[in-house]
Amino acid sequence: MGETKPVLLAEQEYHGRMFVDQRKKGSRCGYPGSRLGSQKSWHKAIWFKLALLRRLPTRDRLRSWGLNVPEKCLRCSAAVETHHHRFFECQFLASIWTFFAGSVWRPNPPQDIHSAAAWICMDRNSSSAQARCIIKLMFQSTVYLIWRERNRRIFALTSSSANSVRCAIDRQIRDSLLSLSASPRVQPSMPQFFLACTRPP
Ligand SMILES: [Zn+2]
Repeated sequence: MGETKPVLLAEQEYHGRMFVDQRKKGSRCGYPGSRLGSQKSWHKAIWFKLALLRRLPTRDRLRSWGLNVPEKCLRCSAAVETHHHRFFECQFLASIWTFFAGSVWRPNPPQDIHSAAAWICMDRNSSSAQARCIIKLMFQSTVYLIWRERNRRIFALTSSSANSVRCAIDRQIRDSLLSLSASPRVQPSMPQFFLACTRPP
């Protein structure tokens, strides 16, 4: 089988390749007919691996290395910027996560990145194939765009509203779903499923 062409922009590459089911190295994302994840495992999505390992250079880590940087979250200034705070504890970011996860990931979406990853890697869960694949996309898109927004605030001195970040995540998920090959065997289709259970940001 020939290699699948990348379908997303360079900036979205890590996200667009999707992460592969960790249970079977080299397997696909678990959705029949999905092209996502056919090229690289999520182990090669370095930034995402670093996030799961709590190795992204959050301020608490930078300070542990002796670097003279402020310790507070640069979004809310209400707590030390740790991985847990950055990914879901911060109110700004929690509102983004809840907006998406609450619509598909029912009844109770995980409240932190590691609980979410553990849920995704479970051998069995009650969600449909469509929901599981969209949850993976949603999870990875959210982590990626939250980290990108954080870096833009630091390095480009620009900031985005929560709604802007939600719109970017929504756009990225839609682009990824529309890049899939349609399969008449799977109904409703992935885009149909996503549109039916979410609302525009
Ligand atoms: Zn914060």
